[in-house]
Amino acid sequence: MTFSIHGFAVARGIAIGRAVLVASSRVDVAHYLITPEQVTREIARVANARDEVVKEILALQHSMPKDSPVELIAMLDVHLMLLQDEMLSDGIKHWISERLYNAEWALTSQLEVVARQFDEMTDPYLRERKADLEQVVERLLRCMKGLPHALPIEPQARPGSQRQQELLLDDEVDVPLVLVAHDLSPADMIQFKQSVFAGFVTDVGGRTSHTAIVARSLDIPAVVGARGASHWVQQDDWVIIDGDQGVLIVDPSAIILAEYGFKQRHAQLERERLSRLRHTPALSLDGQRVELLANIELPEDTAQAVAVGAVGVGLFRSEFLFMGREGELPNEDQQFEAYLKAVHGMKGLPVTIRTIDIGADKPLDRSQKEDQYLNPALGLRAIRWSLSEPAMFLTQLRAILRASSHGQVNLLIPMLAHAREIKQTLALLRQARSELDARGVPYGPMKLGAMIEVPAAALTLPLFLQHFDFLSIGTNDLIQYTLAIDRADESVAHLYDPLHPAVLGLIDNTIQAATAAGKGVSVCGEMAGDAQMTRLLLGLGLRSFSMHPTQILSVKQEILRTDISKLKDWAQAVIHAPEPLQWMQSVPSR
Ligand code: PEP
Ligand code: MG
Repeated sequence: MTFSIHGFAVARGIAIGRAVLVASSRVDVAHYLITPEQVTREIARVANARDEVVKEILALQHSMPKDSPVELIAMLDVHLMLLQDEMLSDGIKHWISERLYNAEWALTSQLEVVARQFDEMTDPYLRERKADLEQVVERLLRCMKGLPHALPIEPQARPGSQRQQELLLDDEVDVPLVLVAHDLSPADMIQFKQSVFAGFVTDVGGRTSHTAIVARSLDIPAVVGARGASHWVQQDDWVIIDGDQGVLIVDPSAIILAEYGFKQRHAQLERERLSRLRHTPALSLDGQRVELLANIELPEDTAQAVAVGAVGVGLFRSEFLFMGREGELPNEDQQFEAYLKAVHGMKGLPVTIRTIDIGADKPLDRSQKEDQYLNPALGLRAIRWSLSEPAMFLTQLRAILRASSHGQVNLLIPMLAHAREIKQTLALLRQARSELDARGVPYGPMKLGAMIEVPAAALTLPLFLQHFDFLSIGTNDLIQYTLAIDRADESVAHLYDPLHPAVLGLIDNTIQAATAAGKGVSVCGEMAGDAQMTRLLLGLGLRSFSMHPTQILSVKQEILRTDISKLKDWAQAVIHAPEPLQWMQSVPSR
């Protein structure tokens, strides 16, 4: 039966394919595709873990006192039975050998299948055995955790490629796969770059959560906040992701499939048309030049940035180099190599590296997430964390400084609000330079920028203009902190409003103050990549936008069609209107 689940549109486009479920308990379980040569090894990993757990249970049974509770004895019997059950082991072998899932992923996929069968049982006793099954699987996963855990980021298949076709069952060689999960951390999401998936859906998350941001950078349709999706969708169900409307359609009828197939082809044609703008300079109709920069998460993303004609990197979110490493931070040389790679990748164009912005919905690893109290967005995040870990921060500053002797590098500091944070940051930067001097290591000149993403910063701009060469407006956080809306919480996502007059007032102030002081100012939050906001930001005087490479061409198209000189009065009217959205409709035509 066809049904749909509504969430928030994160990345545009239509994906049609079969669902691959990632259950919530598995967020920290590695899932990646193996090569056919690794099949035997992965099957053996599961078998070894199973043997070990069986041995543990047998030993426990042996050592149990005679008067042990009958429930405990029965539970261990059930666990042993489940471990030896062929439905579990055959299913795991299937996922490993037919789909080339790694052992942990195969294990949890099969858990999903068998758990549903338990759910459907009429006998309440048998139905409750699902909890035992989950415990058994958890034990197996824990047992396997001693083995290498990092996800190999090896080139994997694109939908429809030869490699993907090998991954699928013979009769379904062209079927794309769509990932459905309760939640995925930004670190999980980044592992899926260049993966087989044609689309993503998660139960939770807001439009500007960091998971959504990474999903957008993957340039495949994605919907977040689709509540209940991972519960209602079953493994291998046919699904459609409408990334334009934020809708997931499950088990679509033939008519719906045909309609979305048409939309998909139309979107593809639109992309091809846009791609012709790659080499066109971003000049408005009245001849004003606009700078279009790229936001990147990893040095490898520079290839895509250059391919779409970005004139530099406006935001390198360096924290992605630090995440998913089980707390082990990259050392100075490792970081230097990564920054250098980005500098080389941009072929002489400027690269703005933001110092680590860890915390809130970007934990270093899972344990940090669990340690955090309930409002991590208001906690020890970004520069606050860096200043509390001076050794870590100095290491990063030295690595960035070293990269600056190989190209045009700008340094950007996130989440500043206090004069003393600015002072401490500048002092540590001086210290990093003198440490390099003492080692005789060269570094180049670097422009220094501050992110304006806390309302307190947007209301004390002279302080920032006194100390920094440029400002970068982080609208994602500026909106979050101005409106007191957790950007990762889908239950308040309807209140997350870039057009709120308070937000627009702060953006306008920042652009005007920086421009009057002769300093550079750009927007690097998601607003910069939203083509519906382009004219408003141009009308407010913004001439530098930083966004995902995937958004650059549609924003450029808006610029090419705009006479900026006609926008100023309209933009002022919009930001002073009690309901700016209505005024947005009356944008002057070209
Ligand atoms: C922002 O807050 O707008 C921003 C660009 O930084 P991040 O999304 O990484 O917090
Ligand atoms: Mg931010």
